[in-house]
Amino acid sequence: MKIAFIGLGNMGGGMAANQAKAGRAVAAFDLSSAALEKAKAAGCAPAASVAEAVAGADAVITMLPAGPHVRSVYGEQVLAHAPKSALLIDCSTIDVESARAVAAQAKGAGFRFADAPVSGGTAAAEAGTLAFMVGCDEPDFAEVEAVIKPMSRVVFRAGDHGAGQAAKICNNMLLGISMIGTCEAIALAEKLGLDPARFFDIAAQSSGQCWSLTSYCPWPGPVPAAPSNRDYAGGFATAMMLKDLKLAQEAAAKSGAAAPMGAQAEGLYALFDRLGGGSKDFSAILQMLRGNAPT
Ligand code: NAD
Repeated sequence: MKIAFIGLGNMGGGMAANQAKAGRAVAAFDLSSAALEKAKAAGCAPAASVAEAVAGADAVITMLPAGPHVRSVYGEQVLAHAPKSALLIDCSTIDVESARAVAAQAKGAGFRFADAPVSGGTAAAEAGTLAFMVGCDEPDFAEVEAVIKPMSRVVFRAGDHGAGQAAKICNNMLLGISMIGTCEAIALAEKLGLDPARFFDIAAQSSGQCWSLTSYCPWPGPVPAAPSNRDYAGGFATAMMLKDLKLAQEAAAKSGAAAPMGAQAEGLYALFDRLGGGSKDFSAILQMLRGNAPT
């Protein structure tokens, strides 16, 4: 199988490497020559352009920063140069409207297209254990799943075009809200003279239990693998969470949904970002809520 992989950044680099490891011929393209060099070392064949990468491809995978990049890479390059038989899969996290617009344009040009954003971060991208949320025509799903397999732990079909992006932003809005709630409870416990680690033991077995607390505890100690134990380095950056919360608010405004807690979460993450926390893991917002500036 020949894969064209466009966008070899923090996520795409590891994902393309896993396609090559699975024995597929990977033609890789990125605007960054450093990213191309890395992909070459991981067994991919660097291409000089999108057009060169997608020539003769069975599947095209993109992992780009945001909606405008996806609209332009497909609209101006992929659709003009890929074979019509190529299955097009965009794994970037983008707005639902862009995902549906690109899908309609691709379908209009005779292609099959899927939006397939991921959850799991750079460690899962490298390990090939990402969770994929796919929006595509039902008959195309089995082939999408087969192409995605070397990069995934689990693949869901969320629904038709755009449903993958909808699942991704709804999940991440819930995550952002639950993390802030967890941090507020820990900060209050501390102010009340309750040891936060003891509060963890209790809430983990009580009705306050949630993933942000028991799998990703923002207070160092109780969950050794959580970024809180390494000064909030790595993990899921605050700037990325803020991007996803903005997408959720845009989608809420356009669809007429009420998402006031999501709006609060966006405001608090925007403030933490402005204070210099953008590159810290999103659980570091605990420090702001305790009254500490990011270091
Ligand atoms: P990144 O900035 O590291 O990588 C994006 C890459 O796309 C860069 O290497 C850039 O040079 C390349 N690029 C941009 N425009 C291009 C073009 N026109 N042609 C070719 N290459 C182009 O970002 P990332 O962290 O890899 O994230 C990629 C996507 O994955 C984003 O949509 C992000 O929201 C999503 N995501 C990221 C994470 C994470 O933990 N980093 C987790 C889940 C989802």
